[in-house]
Amino acid sequence: MLKFRDYIRVESKAEYEKAIASIEGPVLLLAGGSDLLVQARQDDRYEDHTVVDIFGIEELRTIEDTEGHLVIGACVTHEAIAQSLLVNRYAPILAEAALSVGSVQIRNHSSIGGNLANASPAADTLAPLAVLNAEVVILKDGIESVVPLAEIFEGPYKTNLGDRDLIVSVRVPKLSADVRHDYTKVGRRKALSISRMTIATLLQTDENGVVTRFDMTMGATFPCPMTFPDISAMLVGKRPTKEDISEVARALSAKIPEIAGIRASTRYKQPVCRRLSVRILQELIGDEQHA
Ligand SMILES: Cc1cc2nc3c(=O)[nH]c(=O)nc-3n(C[C@H](O)[C@H](O)[C@H](O)COP(=O)(O)OP(=O)(O)OC[C@H]3O[C@@H](n4cnc5c(N)ncnc54)[C@H](O)[C@@H]3O)c2cc1C
Repeated sequence: MLKFRDYIRVESKAEYEKAIASIEGPVLLLAGGSDLLVQARQDDRYEDHTVVDIFGIEELRTIEDTEGHLVIGACVTHEAIAQSLLVNRYAPILAEAALSVGSVQIRNHSSIGGNLANASPAADTLAPLAVLNAEVVILKDGIESVVPLAEIFEGPYKTNLGDRDLIVSVRVPKLSADVRHDYTKVGRRKALSISRMTIATLLQTDENGVVTRFDMTMGATFPCPMTFPDISAMLVGKRPTKEDISEVARALSAKIPEIAGIRASTRYKQPVCRRLSVRILQELIGDEQHA
C-alpha cells in the first residue's frame, strides 16, 4: 500500500514552480516511478510527502540538437533515448546503454533524470555520461544552473539535490563520427539484469593510428560516476601496443580496490575488468594495434 500526503500532477515548468512554492512539508518528485514506486511500497517513509508528478512536463521530454551539445530533457525515457536518431548519431554509447535498461516496459516508463537522481551505482547511463563529460541542468530556487555530472553525487543512492530541486536536462557534448565506443554490461542474468559491472569506453585515433582521445570507466563498481585522466593519459599520443593495452587493463582494475575498498566482489571484478578491458581495447583499436 502506497502512502503519500498528497499528489499533484504538473505539465509545465511554470506549473512545477508554482506547485512547489505552495506545498508545505517535504516534496517527492515522481517521474516514471520505476524506482520510486518500488521503494515507496517497502515502508511508510513517504507518508508525510507530497508527490509532484513531473513525468508530463513537456519541456522535460524533448531532445534538442544545439551547436555543441545534445540537450536531453530529464523526463525523456530510456526507450526514447535508445531510439533517438540524434542520440544514435552524436552519443551512440548512451543510446546503447539506454537500450540495456530493464525491459521495453521499464524503458518506456523510466527516465534519464530518474536514473541520475536515484544515484544507484548500478545505473546504466552513469558510466557513459561520465566518459561523455555530460553536465546536468538543475532548477533550484527559481534559477537554472549547469553543473558537471559528478558534482551532483555524494555516494551510493545519495545526491546533493534538495527535495524541490529539479533536474531539467542532461547536456551531452556531441561526439564526432570517428569516435569509436563500447558499452559492455556484465549482469547477473541476461535479461532484465541490473548491472554487476559496466565498462564505458570512447576512443579516437588520427590517420596515423595515434590516439587523440581515450576515456574508459566502469559503472556498478564505484560509489559515484568517475573519470580517470591518468588512465586516459596512458594511451593519448601513442600508437598503442599490446603492452600498452595490458597496462591500461591493469591500471583500471587496480582502481577497484583503490576506490571502492576490498570487498567480496573484488576478487571477481578485478580479473573480469582486466580481461574485458583488453578485449574492448583490442576491438576498438583493431588493425591499428602495434606489436
Ligand atoms: C524491473 C526493473 C528493472 C530495472 N532495470 C534497470 C537497468 O537495467 N538499468 C538501470 O540503470 N536501471 C534499471 N532499473 C531502475 C530504474 O528503471 C531507473 O533507475 C530509472 O531510470 C528511474 O527513472 P524513473 O523515471 O522511473 O524515476 P522515478 O522512480 O520516478 O524516480 C527515481 C528518483 O529520482 C527522483 N527524480 C526523478 N526525476 C527527477 C528529476 N527530473 N529531478 C530530480 N529528481 C528526480 C525521484 O524523486 C526519485 O527519488 C530497473 C527498475 C526496475 C523496476
